[in-house]
Amino acid sequence: MKKEAMFWTPLKDEAVQCDLCPHHCVIASQKHGICGVRKNEQGRLYSLIYQACSSIATDPIEKKPLYHFYPGSLVLSLGSVGCTFRCDHCQNYQISMAHPAELSLRDVPAERLSKLAVEQGCQGVAWTYNEPTIWHEYTFEAAKLIKKAGLYTVYVTNGYIEEEPLKEIAPYLDAMNIDVKAFDEASYKKVCKARLAPVLQTCERTRKLGIHLELTYLVIPGMNDDMFEINRFCQWVVETLGADTPVHFSRFHPDYKMTDVKPTSLATLRRCHSIATESGLRFVYLGNIAHGDYDNTYCPSCKNLLIERYGFSSDLKGLTQGKCSRCNASIPVRMK
Ligand code: SF4
Repeated sequence: MKKEAMFWTPLKDEAVQCDLCPHHCVIASQKHGICGVRKNEQGRLYSLIYQACSSIATDPIEKKPLYHFYPGSLVLSLGSVGCTFRCDHCQNYQISMAHPAELSLRDVPAERLSKLAVEQGCQGVAWTYNEPTIWHEYTFEAAKLIKKAGLYTVYVTNGYIEEEPLKEIAPYLDAMNIDVKAFDEASYKKVCKARLAPVLQTCERTRKLGIHLELTYLVIPGMNDDMFEINRFCQWVVETLGADTPVHFSRFHPDYKMTDVKPTSLATLRRCHSIATESGLRFVYLGNIAHGDYDNTYCPSCKNLLIERYGFSSDLKGLTQGKCSRCNASIPVRMK
């Protein structure tokens, strides 16, 4: 469904500039922005995906991944189409690179989401699968209603959003998992066709706005797995966002235009884990690998097992009201 977009500026000759994300596309009449879902029609900018869903599912919150946010809860998860990035390794390229007209999208009005979530036994709603920030007109309206109904809201995002729209939705957004695709501008430009600096700015702003934040770093052999780069990333997280920020290093699987690159080895992921913990990060996880200790949350003070995870399920073994049940240390886990 089409709706007039927010965050744009009219230019001369019926052109417009979109101000939603750091691309700041200048769009001529009848053309689309880079994301493919915002179109200039006679000098006005429109979102083509208002309340248009490509996928709806009930997921464990751990699948986002969010490990320190309502562990063990289910979340109603929605995706649309389009993305601000053009990653060669995109694992959801069927929807992220699609044009709204290419897929049959289902209209799900914002007013229906909280009821739908409760019916499915969910405690919240997540915008995920494709990039949620380009769905701003819908997610902003829906997030207000979902919060009013007492449920939580989540973005799983590449972090490419301008300050004003982020500030606008922040009071109604509880948690974000932001993908950091590399810690190097050249890699962002080459592989994602975007820039790193605005993503890091969004991470900082998210933290300052009080939104729960976890980071995912997909480790791609030969692209972003240099251990100096990993070390610089970890140092930056500790110094800028804080040592309590959960960081997920995730295993790469060949996909889309990057089928010639091998999956990340377990040895590389273990090295990332060691570097991160040596940097001072207190909650580091490895994702997309068979179950092991790297999924669990331990108390940084006494090493007590706090949350044991099997696949995407969580068992609160040693966590009582946000504290370690053995040494009483405060653990940053958001729960009801
Ligand atoms: S949201 Fe889309 S149209 Fe707007 S600046 Fe970003 S890529 Fe361009």
